[in-house]
Amino acid sequence: MPNSMANTNNTKHPTMTELYDLHCHSNASDGALSPTELVQRAQQQGVTRLALTDHDTVAGLAEAKTCAGQVGIDLIAGIELSTNWQKKCFHIVGLGIDPSYPPLAEATHYLQQTRLERAEKIALKLEQKRIPGALAAVKLAVGPGMITRSHFADFLLSQHHVDTQQEAFDRYLAKGKPAYVSTDWAELAVAVRWITEAGGVAVLAHPLRYKLSANWLKRLLTAFKDAGGLGIEVITSRMNPDEIRLIAGYAKHYGLAGSVGSDFHNAANPWVELGRLAPLPAHIQPVWELLG
Ligand code: AMP
Ligand code: MN
Ligand code: MN
Ligand code: MN
Repeated sequence: MPNSMANTNNTKHPTMTELYDLHCHSNASDGALSPTELVQRAQQQGVTRLALTDHDTVAGLAEAKTCAGQVGIDLIAGIELSTNWQKKCFHIVGLGIDPSYPPLAEATHYLQQTRLERAEKIALKLEQKRIPGALAAVKLAVGPGMITRSHFADFLLSQHHVDTQQEAFDRYLAKGKPAYVSTDWAELAVAVRWITEAGGVAVLAHPLRYKLSANWLKRLLTAFKDAGGLGIEVITSRMNPDEIRLIAGYAKHYGLAGSVGSDFHNAANPWVELGRLAPLPAHIQPVWELLG
């Protein structure tokens, strides 16, 4: 059984150890590493099955797949879609998608435009705070990839307006702060449909990061399930045992399969590493059983 538990039952591979990480980012969105560097790092960390899940783009998947073949990692084609539900933003990971499925390809094209327009507005707001030059710098840094707020955070850091990425969000980029721009993402149910029709499994990403009350989280899970969502990240980086028990309980209650994903972006945070994850609780159905 993944993660990190010796597979003693499997007579074919008695010494094999599997390690899964089904959520991470390359520089096709806001990760620091190229898809190749990311897959190589995963292999060095002992990951055997990796899903690349960049924000609103599948652009890194082809390169990741090539490298994965070379280093012997099983690569799952993934994406992390930004969505709206009840006017709030939630992230839905799609696993096992066909990246060329036309509605999904159209959606990512549209989302790139949405993100560019948002970036222009964020840059204007920063200018009003006497911080010029953000748009050009961010565009240069991201190249053909998806512009995210993380790129603005890096810019603010490089210009010494803040001392950490977190401070950039806390002072400028987070909701309610001067450079925040609210965005119309796809509705959650629509995003789940894109993923499902592209042959993938829709997974609610990092359920505790939205800071929802228990009531709201239950409403969200009901809506997600009704929309055709099949999984939830029971294991993400930096969860304590109580949090894992809580989310595992919700997975059971709502009949959702469990996923495991570090949400690795870069090496700056020593607490977040590819494959460095607690095992999925034994009573939870693993989401990879649903993958074709
Ligand atoms: P975006 O999708 O462009 O709104 O950017 C969201 C990304 O910014 C997330 O995926 C995180 O990588 C990062 N992010 C969001 N909030 C924070 C925060 N408070 N501190 C650090 N990074 C954050
Ligand atoms: Mn991110
Ligand atoms: Mn996310
Ligand atoms: Mn992510």
